[in-house]
Amino acid sequence: AAERLSGKIILITGASSGIGEATAKEAAAAANGDIKLILTARRKEKLDKLASELTSTYPKIKVLAESLDVSKTDTIKPFIEKLPQEFSDIDVLVNNAGLALGRDEIGSILSEDIQAMFQTNVLGLISMTQAVLPIFKKKNRGDIVNLGSVAGRDPYPGGGIYCPTKASVKSFSHVLRKELINTKIRVLEVDPGNVETEFSNVRFKGDLQKAKSVYAGTEPLYADDVAEIIVFGLTRKENTVLAESLVFSTNQA
Ligand code: NDP
Repeated sequence: AAERLSGKIILITGASSGIGEATAKEAAAAANGDIKLILTARRKEKLDKLASELTSTYPKIKVLAESLDVSKTDTIKPFIEKLPQEFSDIDVLVNNAGLALGRDEIGSILSEDIQAMFQTNVLGLISMTQAVLPIFKKKNRGDIVNLGSVAGRDPYPGGGIYCPTKASVKSFSHVLRKELINTKIRVLEVDPGNVETEFSNVRFKGDLQKAKSVYAGTEPLYADDVAEIIVFGLTRKENTVLAESLVFSTNQA
């Protein structure tokens, strides 16, 4: 089934670390390098490093590494419209960029953090989808992978903004799937539990002790575990959509 990714153009947001980076590697491996990847995130140097790793492993691969801040939603459509021609006919959009900031009760959440979470996790994801959808509609084909979270299904104290952002991703994915019924455009939502990535460092703003405590005493998922699920979904027959995947380590329920 891996050959179903061969020759495709895949755009990944948040490809500079964690699940996004792992998805780039997993997709490249599945297609044995016969793939074009558009890697985006804010930290261009990390994307460049990943791009050179991939191009030295797979001689045939084509990688475009570009900085794109999805929270700046008005930059998204121009970005998609100005892609170099050989990358412009996107086949797969992986809406992965996202973050949590803080784990405080509602009254203490900083307004700039509220803005950043909604702007990135929700509005960025919606704007990316709006920008890429015309390409998919034109050829009646394409896959959209949205990273939700267990947090969107099972809210917890301290997740007063992050949980609603991920519930929004779920609701948006449902609407999209229903609007696209009877087309060959698939919408896959992947909802991981705890994954050990930079996510917690970002959430606790560099307080590494707090970040580590999230994973202490359990074996979490790793980024490549989630990437495997994403690539599994993308390599199903075109009549099949892995609509929602709740992915836990065996230490979480
Ligand atoms: P990481 O922090 O390792 O990766 C997050 C990625 O998002 C980075 O590449 C970061 O790149 C990018 N990003 C953040 N803000 C922006 C922005 N404004 N514009 C563009 N890119 C941005 O975390 P994960 O890999 O764990 O997270 C990936 C997704 O998975 C997120 O949507 C997260 O909510 C979700 N998730 C994570 C879980 C976990 O436990 N780790 C559990 C469930 C869901 P840069 O900083 O360079 O812009």
